[in-house]
Formats: sequence, C-alpha cells, structure tokens
Amino acid sequence: MAKLADKAVGNWPAVGIDLGTTYSCVAVWQDDRVEIITNDLGNRTTPSCVAFTQHQRLIGEGAINQASLNPTNTIFDAKRLIGRKFNDQVVQDDIMLWPFTVIAEEVGNNKKPIIVVNFKDEEKHFFPEEISSMILSKMKDIATAYLGTEVKNAVVTVPAYFNNAQRQATKDAGTIAGLNVLRIINEPTAAAIAYGLDKKLTSSEVEAAKNVLVFDLGGGTFDVSLVAIGKDAFEVKAVSGDTHLGGGDFDKRMVSHFMSEFERKHNKNMSDNPRALGRLRAACERAKRNLSSTPETSIDIDCLFEGIDFSTTITRARFEKLNMDLFQNCLEPIDKCLKDAKIEKSEVHEIVLVGGSSRTPMVRRLVQDFFNGKDLCQGINPDEAVAYGAACHAAVLTGTMGMKNHVLVDVTPLSLGIKVHSGDMSVIIPRNTLIPTKMSAIARTARDNQACAFFRVYEGERPIAVENHYLGSFKLEGIPPAPEGVPKFDTVFEIDADGILTVTAEDLDTKNKNQVIITNHSARLPKKEINRMAKEAKRYKVNDEAFKEAAVAKNKLENYVDEIKKKARENMWKIDLKDKRKIDDVIEQTEQWLDWNNIFGKARMFEQKIQRLVKISEPIFKKMRKSDDSEIEVLELD
Ligand code: ADP
Ligand code: MG
Repeated sequence: MAKLADKAVGNWPAVGIDLGTTYSCVAVWQDDRVEIITNDLGNRTTPSCVAFTQHQRLIGEGAINQASLNPTNTIFDAKRLIGRKFNDQVVQDDIMLWPFTVIAEEVGNNKKPIIVVNFKDEEKHFFPEEISSMILSKMKDIATAYLGTEVKNAVVTVPAYFNNAQRQATKDAGTIAGLNVLRIINEPTAAAIAYGLDKKLTSSEVEAAKNVLVFDLGGGTFDVSLVAIGKDAFEVKAVSGDTHLGGGDFDKRMVSHFMSEFERKHNKNMSDNPRALGRLRAACERAKRNLSSTPETSIDIDCLFEGIDFSTTITRARFEKLNMDLFQNCLEPIDKCLKDAKIEKSEVHEIVLVGGSSRTPMVRRLVQDFFNGKDLCQGINPDEAVAYGAACHAAVLTGTMGMKNHVLVDVTPLSLGIKVHSGDMSVIIPRNTLIPTKMSAIARTARDNQACAFFRVYEGERPIAVENHYLGSFKLEGIPPAPEGVPKFDTVFEIDADGILTVTAEDLDTKNKNQVIITNHSARLPKKEINRMAKEAKRYKVNDEAFKEAAVAKNKLENYVDEIKKKARENMWKIDLKDKRKIDDVIEQTEQWLDWNNIFGKARMFEQKIQRLVKISEPIFKKMRKSDDSEIEVLELD
C-alpha cells in the first residue's frame, strides 16, 4: 500500500469519482466520514453529458437542458465508446441509436470511434476519452469548489467487465482532465467497500470468502456482479447484466403513456416536436424519482404543445404496471451471474443495490423476493455508493483514512497471454490473479534460423488466441541464425495497481538487451495525443470561463443601459437639451454595439463600454443634481 500512497501528488486531497454512463458523482473523505459533493446547482449527481453550441461548451445539467434543441451536438453515453474499436459490434449497434455522429479514425493500425460535432460553427472531432475527460474535469471543478483547494488526485471507477483497453482509456481521460488517477477500481468493488463489507469481514476473522451480490441498475445499463471478498482480495467471480436496460427505459414508457393521454384529451400528437418531448421526458424523470418515495405524484407543464398546458397525475401502481416486464427482466441476469459464479442463492451473504434506478420500490421488492426475503444492504444512497466507496479507497491510498487490515486488493478480471505458433493462447497471468503482479514465461523460436519473433498479446479465457480480445503486439528482430527452439525469450507481463499491462521480452541467448514494452494497447491514444488533448482541455476550460465572464459583463452593461435610459427619461426636464442628446447618442451607440457583439464580445469589451457610459452620463447627472436640491440616487454599478 505504501508504494501506492507515494503516487499521490502533493498535499492535494484525493477524491473518488464514479464516472457513470448517465450520471457521475464525486465524493471525498473528510472529518472521518465521506462527503458526497454537490454541484453548482446543488445536485449530488451530475449528468454525464457534454454539449457544443454556436457559442459555448456545456457540461452536466446545462448540456441536458438544451439536448432536445441541439441533439446532434449533445454527447452522452461516451462511456459506451471508451476504449472500444469502431468496428466493435457494440459500437456499431449504439451508433444506430444515437442522434450524434460517430465516425472512424485511424490510430496506429486501429480504427477508433470519434465523435463529430459542430462547435462555434466549426466541425470538431473528439475521441471518447476527450468527452469523458470533460466530464471528469467538471467533477474535478465541483470538488475543487467545495474543498477550496485544487483537487488533483482521484480514484476513478469502471464496470467490472471493462477490459484493459477500456481501463487504460479511462485513465487517459483522467490525465487529459489534469487528474492524477491514483487507481482505477471496479464499480461493484467500490460499492462493497461503501457498505463496509470488507471491514466486517476482517474484524470477524472469517476465513472463507464472503459472497456479495452487487445489483447495479443505472440510467441505461444494468450490471450484476458476484464479488467474493476474501482475506486478501476482492474477486469479481462473475458478471452479467443488460447493456441496454435502465432508468431511461422507464422514463420512455412514462413518456409514451402521457403522450397518449395528451392526444386523448386534446386530440394533438406531439411526437414530431422534440422540444415538447424533451420537456415531457424531463418531467417524467422527476415524477419517476418522486414515485420512489410517494404513492402518487403530479406533472404540470406550461405550454407543453401548441400553447396547451399539461396537468396530470400518476400513481406508483400505474408506473409499475407500465414497466413490470422491464423490472422482471432484471431477475434473469442475477440467475445467470450466480450460475457463472457457481454459487447458490443461499450462499449469497450480502445483497448490495447500486445505481439510481435500484431505488425503485418494485425493483427492490423483486430482488428481495428472488432471494427469499433476505434483507438488502441499507444505509447508503444507491446512486452514491460507488463514489462513496471510491472516496474511501482514495483516502486509504493517500493515508488520510487510518484503517488497518483494509482489504483493497483487486484481481485481474481476464487471463492475459500470448499467441503461440499453434494459434493457442498461452496464458501468462491467469484471471483472478491479485494485482499488482509480475509474471514471466520463456518463449522460443518456432522455426530454424528465425530472425524475428512476433509477440501478440491477448486477454480472455478462450483457448484459441484470436477468439480472445487482442491487446497489441511487438516484435524482436536481429535474432542470430540458430535451430528452432534454441533462441529463448524471457517474456514478462506486469500489471500495475490500476490493472494496466506492460509486456516486455528479452532475447536470453544473445544477452542482447532487446526489450519491447507495450505501452499502447490496441485502441489506446498515443502519449503525444494525450498531451495535446490535455493542453486543449485547458484551453477549452479557459474559453468556458471567458464565456461565463463575458455573459456576466454583458448583463451588467445591458442593465446599466436600461438604468441610464430610465433615469434620463424620469429627469427629462432637468437635463439640458445638449446633454440629453449626448446621453441618447451614447446609448444608441452602445445598443448598436450590443446588437453586433451580443455573443462574441469579451468581458473586457463590455467593461470598457460601461466605463464609457459612466464617463459621459455621470457628469450630466451630477450637474443635474447640483441644479436641483432634491436627492437623486447615485447610480451604482453592479
Ligand atoms: P449511471 O447509469 O450513470 O450509473 P445512476 O446510477 O446515477 O447512473 O442512475 C441514473 C438513473 O437513476 C436515472 O435514470 C435516474 O432517473 C434514476 N434515478 C435516480 N434517482 C431515482 C429515484 N429516486 N427513483 C428512481 N430512479 C431514480
Ligand atoms: Mg453507475
């Protein structure tokens, strides 16, 4: 653990970030407890959404709010793309569903998916890592604002089934956001830590592993994991789920229910109106959340469609009826997960419900019934549990949480090895090996006088290498002529604490220092690109801030113009005709200037205009004050 703690930079606090598909959450260990940090709008989770408009970039709620008006430039679900190749079936299937454009871009020998948007009237291309980095930097800012000191260190979570490339890409997203990612940990592991299940285990000195079923129903994905907490490690025994099932689907059902109701009542169909649909969807999501704690809720939307207001109610029973089949669909993956882990229902010690949608009472009931009425773990908000656990982990890594015997070791989710001459996968690090780890094997040449050896690295459990997930390859050249099998190579696989792999090979016979390290997994961005993106990310941030400052300054100028106009009007008889003309002129000029610079102006320019207005109008108003005994209020800026 000491080695890991050294990795934290400076005295900066370390936070835990749940980088979710639909919502993200950030938490920190402070004053002996975990604090879930609220964003600038007071919300404890922030939509994982980034939007690009003609004038600005928006992240979080701001992006969601304008989504229906700007669907092609509002990017969500970047997590579904991260670390994947363009030709992945999953990527191809998702592309069909998204309103934004994803194309292929050649990186090394691979095609990576890249998102195309129109930003400030220019076509821009972003890698999924960059979009995720924007969300991470928003979470970093939220934490920085709360802690009052810059946040650099973070533990970031990923789904248990994420492979090496997806983990590495998530880490790269952190780097682009200017974060020092202390560790990447599994979401179900973080959830188990949040419920203190690791501590319970060590204190009661249970020798056998404790089986924890983590049921994670989020906004668009459903993951079930069976985590075994042993004396030394968290082991994800099996994962299952549905990549397209979550709260968003429940919202959709409610939207179509109310669309029909609206049509019945008003004989109008709003299905072609994205703005109306967007507003209805937002109202339905709110109503759904309410129904988790109240038996009935109402929806009131002014001027929903063609000027008609929409007021209605929905009961929890009705909502459950609309979604019952979807709720039922959550049970089969649990069954499958238990089967894969070779564990009986009765052998599950704890059931942890995670993900905002697992707050749905009927979902909880179905899960509890499935386990014959067994109690579910209680006490932590399911949509915060992952960030909560990540924050605990970050505190342990940086030494802020003095916890002895804290089980914090992860294991490799998949076996890692190389393709041998026969085409078989030769496993070097078996799955479920504790990490960090370093293992090696000796490889030999397969032909006489072989001058060059290829090392192709794969991860997965299939015996035939190409049926597994290809990670990357490298070659060793300059092997002196020798019979088959004589030249030998020490092949070392090393996984660091983040689950990231480095493969090295050394020609042993010649003692040549031939060594190649795979630093770029197949779909990974080159370091140079990451550095460029990190620089750009800073530039984007400066632009965002400049835009906000300009908006504030513009507002101030507009208010000031209005005030002067009002004051000049109210005191018409007290101002010389010549002075009045001066004021009218400067106001007209300013208003004209505002028309042209309404959006593109910089804060400094708006400030200058205010100064000019002050310089011209103040002496006139002062003069007027002198000629009149009655009190006149002094104009105040701001
Ligand atoms: P992610 O999919 O990114 O992991 P979350 O775990 O935060 O996201 O889940 C988000 C989903 O949870 C959304 O669909 C949201 O509407 C839903 N949700 C949040 N709070 C509640 C609640 N109180 N009742 C029902 N659903 C909720
Ligand atoms: Mg989640």
